[in-house]
Amino acid sequence: MLPERMTALGTARSVIRELFEFGKERAAVVGPENVFDFSIGNPSVPPPPQVNEAAIRILSTQDPVLTHGYTSAGGDANARALLAGSLNRRFGAGLTGDDLYLTVGAAAALCCCFHGLTCPGDEFVVFAPYFPEYQVFIEGAGAKMVLIPAEVEGFQISFDALEAALTPCTKGVVVNSPNNPSGCVYSRETIQRLAGLLSRKSEEYGHPIYLITDEPYREIVYDGAKAPWVPHFYDNTIVCYSYSKSLSLPGERIGYLAVSPKAWEHKLVYAALAGAGRSLGYVNAPALFQQVAAECAALTSDLSVYAENRRLLLEGLRKLGFRCVTPGGTFYLFPQSLEADDVAFCQRAKDYDLLLVPGSGFGCPGHFRLSYCVPTERIRRALPVFAKLAERYRA
Ligand code: PLP
Repeated sequence: MLPERMTALGTARSVIRELFEFGKERAAVVGPENVFDFSIGNPSVPPPPQVNEAAIRILSTQDPVLTHGYTSAGGDANARALLAGSLNRRFGAGLTGDDLYLTVGAAAALCCCFHGLTCPGDEFVVFAPYFPEYQVFIEGAGAKMVLIPAEVEGFQISFDALEAALTPCTKGVVVNSPNNPSGCVYSRETIQRLAGLLSRKSEEYGHPIYLITDEPYREIVYDGAKAPWVPHFYDNTIVCYSYSKSLSLPGERIGYLAVSPKAWEHKLVYAALAGAGRSLGYVNAPALFQQVAAECAALTSDLSVYAENRRLLLEGLRKLGFRCVTPGGTFYLFPQSLEADDVAFCQRAKDYDLLLVPGSGFGCPGHFRLSYCVPTERIRRALPVFAKLAERYRA
């Protein structure tokens, strides 16, 4: 007998993967230039040249036994110290290397948090729209995900709904800003207000509510938007980060979690998260890319392509009557679908080889996600196709 949950997870492809595979099949039939795949969040710009330069230099100058060997479970001490230094220079974070635990991307950082913090009966609060893997990760850790419905006017936090969702069972609240899929960025004021509420509730319940801030898109922001350094506002914060998006390295699987040195019993929290990493068998984050990320931490890929894609799409789609909250960051748009049933809408879009992801999967029906980390030319060619789709609804 096998656990049904696992066979189901391993068999059912995510909607996004399904679309991605469909796109490849269609490309073989109609030609890649006639498939408008906006499904997956795979960065479309290369890493900055310093990434390859660092990798080549490390590979050609260091002792290969060391380069490819195991590192400490939390990551190579020198790499961690360099990363902490970079965060301290950028944010005044006050970290040492010992506050960082290098991970196999943000996904592993999140799993370490959920597994490391969960006691029987614990709950984690998540805001819709949300990254669908949260549910898999949280339930996999034996906790319950409590979902707050989306505040669709601006995708900001509905504080009344949050306050109503908090209970003595709340172990943590997950925020993802800039957000996948809405692109929205929480302001300083929002984080301050969130911190105030969580401090009050932690006090009331007599235990900390951890703020898990999932930030793989931190640097991908527009129009002067800035994602604040959350631990400045709330002591019991754990930052989960990844170089998948900012350095275009999703396949290299490198990220970190940072436990705020001001967290209650922070050494013990760090130990619990490290223990979770051990129990999950992560062993250590990829050794070569620990070093590369540490050297390139302050860099990003050329993000100007995303800015141009965002401008073109927002302008083009709005002209066609699509309604969309202006995203402050990421490379996603999350417009309203042209019919209430977002799944039916995306199915209809597929008739035009326009691959869009239904909002339902992100806990926010009536919307669809468009991933614009694609060549700009694809957007130019897709806009007339969006026009045909919109026309069909008008007809
Ligand atoms: N969190 C969010 C919001 C994401 O969008 C993603 C990936 O798309 C992840 C976490 C996982 O990131 P990684 O590839 O670094 O594990």
